[in-house]
Amino acid sequence: MEEINVATNLHSIWQRISAAEQLANRPSGSVSLLAVSKTKPDNLIRAAWNAGQRAFGENYAQEAEEKARRLSDLNIEWHFIGPIQSNKTRGLAQTMAWVHSVDRLKIAQRLSDQRPEDLPPLNLCLQVKLSNEPTKSGIAPSELPLLVEQVSKLPRLHLRGLMAIPAATTDPQEQRKSFKQLQLLLLELQKYQPKIDTLSMGMSGDLEAAVVEGSTLVRVGTDIFGAR
Ligand SMILES: *Cc1c(COP(=O)(O)O)cnc(C)c1O
Repeated sequence: MEEINVATNLHSIWQRISAAEQLANRPSGSVSLLAVSKTKPDNLIRAAWNAGQRAFGENYAQEAEEKARRLSDLNIEWHFIGPIQSNKTRGLAQTMAWVHSVDRLKIAQRLSDQRPEDLPPLNLCLQVKLSNEPTKSGIAPSELPLLVEQVSKLPRLHLRGLMAIPAATTDPQEQRKSFKQLQLLLLELQKYQPKIDTLSMGMSGDLEAAVVEGSTLVRVGTDIFGAR
């Protein structure tokens, strides 16, 4: 197997983000990096932590909780970005700092109810299904305002913004079109929810397009940790 140099890969992603910020005339540091470590072993996460990365994302509830417990000596900010079944919410509420993939009230309600009192409110993004997406997850844009209103009232959650996973394409114009849709939805919500500040969009293959369209957090796995 090819040797993965996580530190070198991280530095090149930080450079790509910084170049994209400049190209988009956005302040340096306005886009943060979530290192997506799903299916990858603890030693690679430790290598990334040693290189200075602090926020990590996981897709599978059990794997996420186990890693959070095993790596609790590191001060990692854990983000959950995968589909959520309602019987998995408790462990996530106990171990995650953020959940990006909420698309229905029932899940949000459970996360709020189950968030331990000694932890700060759980940061939350709502996952939106954009027009050309084949995935099952994500709420339709037309249903978003009602869900935002309901979720913003839950006491143990801090609604931060929106997340999407557009259909993969290598055409930068197509990438930008999808990301633009999500940005417009966020701008609309910010008119009446001024505390919403997060656009979680962009991955290994399309982070530049996402940054041009206002992403504040890119989620990168493959280009840091290698193919899965
Ligand atoms: C796996 C995954 C990523 C990372 O994708 P890469 O193409 O490996 O960078 C980002 N976001 C979500 C929701 C994912 O499931």
